[in-house]
Amino acid sequence: MCRDGTQMLEEERTARRQERRLRRNTPTVAVATTTTYTCPTCNMICGSRIGLFSHQRTHR
Ligand SMILES: [Zn+2]
Repeated sequence: MCRDGTQMLEEERTARRQERRLRRNTPTVAVATTTTYTCPTCNMICGSRIGLFSHQRTHR
């Protein structure tokens, strides 16, 4: 009985850890797919880092 109890506890812990990982990862992935780059000088929004980089060169 004692063994079964500890095993169930460990399985529950593992399940909670996996759930936390999923919750942590989901928002990060969502942000990564919708990443936009905002120009700090004029707040123009670029869809790509290269686009923003070339745009920022026009400010200098
Ligand atoms: Zn700009």
